[in-house]
Amino acid sequence: MIKTRSIVLHRYPYSDSSWIVKALTEECGIVSFIVKGGKRKESPFKGALDPLALAEVVFKHNPNAELQFIKEASVLRWHENLRADLLKLAKAQVMAEMLLRYAPQGVPLEEEFSLMADTLQQLDSPDAPENIFSRWLLSTSEAWGYHLDLGTCGHCGKDLTEPAADFSPESGTFLCKECLGVAAPRAKEETLAGFWTLYKGIPLQCAQYTENALISYLRNHIGFLKEIHSLQWLQETRKLCLPPKT
Ligand SMILES: [Zn+2]
Repeated sequence: MIKTRSIVLHRYPYSDSSWIVKALTEECGIVSFIVKGGKRKESPFKGALDPLALAEVVFKHNPNAELQFIKEASVLRWHENLRADLLKLAKAQVMAEMLLRYAPQGVPLEEEFSLMADTLQQLDSPDAPENIFSRWLLSTSEAWGYHLDLGTCGHCGKDLTEPAADFSPESGTFLCKECLGVAAPRAKEETLAGFWTLYKGIPLQCAQYTENALISYLRNHIGFLKEIHSLQWLQETRKLCLPPKT
């Protein structure tokens, strides 16, 4: 029997009354559970196996089976504030889908678990700072071995003393003003300003540009083959949630 904390990344119906739940667990990485009777109103698991819920689960681990039977599940954090905020919810779903598609399977993912649990908790706070999702993208890149050096020009190697003049998501390098010279930068000014605030630890204003650059960087390094479907929804939600430009 294994008792571990878990975060539900994805859930889909299986027969009339059951769910299949894919969860990131603290002990065993990503595990697929079959939850018999999970769809019934009187299910003992209540909200513990809702997508994005943090729960404590007990299950018998059978390494030869694709699906594990869950014995107990109790909710620790349902993240109700996060769920009430469309934009935060969209970001959390992109996080869940990225982990599901890109995290290594069949191995413990303690760092990923702790990053995800912390980030969901922060997003759940009503006064969550704008940079949480960018921080998660940056830390997750780091955890998967794709380090981004936010403070150095990738061409001349000098420390940056102001926002970089350009960023390439393909190589993951920043360029200083001297090295960019007269060439036109590919990165938007908002993206570069956002990276600078992440580096300096100051509040981020227009998070979406830097978030997109980080997603693009990660996808370039992990592979384009697996599309993240919830990204489309994030883009739509941003349009709905952003105040019109004045
Ligand atoms: Zn340089």
